[in-house]
Amino acid sequence: MAVQKVFPLSCTVQHYAWGKMGSSSEVARLLASSDPQAQISEDKPYAELWMGSHPRGDAKILDNRFSQKTLSQWISENQDCLGSKVKETFDGKLPFLFKVLSVETALSIQAHPNKELAEKLHLQAPQHYPDANHKPEMAIALTSFQGLCGFRPIEEIVTFLTKVPEFQFLIGDNAVAQLKQSSSSDSQSAASALQSCFSHLMKSEKKVVVEQLNLLVKRISQQVAAGNNMEDIYGELLLQLHQQYPGDIGCFAIYFLNLLTLKPGEAMFLEANVPHAYLKGDCVECMACSDNTVRAGLTPKFIDVPTLCEMLSYIPSKDRLFLPTRSQEDPYLSIYDPPVPDFTVMKIEVPGSITEYKVLAVDSASILLVVQGRVTASSPTAHTPIPLQCGGVLFIGANESVSLKLSVPDDLLMFRACCLL
Ligand SMILES: [Zn+2]
Repeated sequence: MAVQKVFPLSCTVQHYAWGKMGSSSEVARLLASSDPQAQISEDKPYAELWMGSHPRGDAKILDNRFSQKTLSQWISENQDCLGSKVKETFDGKLPFLFKVLSVETALSIQAHPNKELAEKLHLQAPQHYPDANHKPEMAIALTSFQGLCGFRPIEEIVTFLTKVPEFQFLIGDNAVAQLKQSSSSDSQSAASALQSCFSHLMKSEKKVVVEQLNLLVKRISQQVAAGNNMEDIYGELLLQLHQQYPGDIGCFAIYFLNLLTLKPGEAMFLEANVPHAYLKGDCVECMACSDNTVRAGLTPKFIDVPTLCEMLSYIPSKDRLFLPTRSQEDPYLSIYDPPVPDFTVMKIEVPGSITEYKVLAVDSASILLVVQGRVTASSPTAHTPIPLQCGGVLFIGANESVSLKLSVPDDLLMFRACCLL
């Protein structure tokens, strides 16, 4: 009998402290609706759902006819199901990790090294940089999703320097003058001025940071109490971040980095060396398999300010939305294809009036997540139809097509991660 190449997965939930609590979390909502036995604790954070074969969250196979218990075991014994190019390029491993994130409190200001730097950092400090791989990431909003991404245009930063004297004080007059003189048309002068300003801020003495931040918080609070709007300097966000991370230098990063509020379906792509932070909301995320993160604020974890300041892309730009393309073959399919080989994400939105939908075969293993709706999946190698609720996760081997029967007249929303080489 042919090897069954399509099967449902039970995925790992990570209860990191920054996650949304209990049933307010999209991760918990998906877990509860896909698994009736799951008990959601309202006093526990449900931060991430890991859909993949990572050793710290290897998905379990939900079919007891399989001799293998986890996805990584199965892949290691059924290598052809990765797809021939993926198998060869990524050494017989699934190259991506697919996730759902539910963020309540901000994640650290961070960037991920490119391959070259990842190798160097891993060699120098394996305890902080656990592997030699790069870690490009993409976040696609499920609910309104707020994050910081890439440097703002110089003019915007200069405006904040004028309006927020505490911010200007930490950077210092010389670096500020350099930034004001730099022009957006000369990208090299802009980059070096930006690097100088950002480095001055991040390397400020802790005591001075706390003093200036307290001054700013007091000023905003007083103005807000007096009924004045402080949104021109993101007063509310600053107070919120300061409440989450009192005295943290990362609070000032909102004046350097673009603040994005993604609507459902909108995405940001975080290529190597782009500074970013997720602030609040729910998203699906896909990334290359790696744990390499260089952090510099809004975190109790290990921070490495010199490496971060050295590695960043100091390219000011307002344009940070990552746009999907519409498939030519399938009117319900949008493709988010970032300029890295490791992963591609597809969004599949089928109206409830359709009763049957065919998931296209691709030359890559893929993972399919049902976010909304309910279907029954069948494929040439599956012995029996597989029912999938909202929150259901399906592994699909390379070159296998899957037919979905929509079982309720609700619209269907799914995301699929794969690797298109
Ligand atoms: Zn990141």
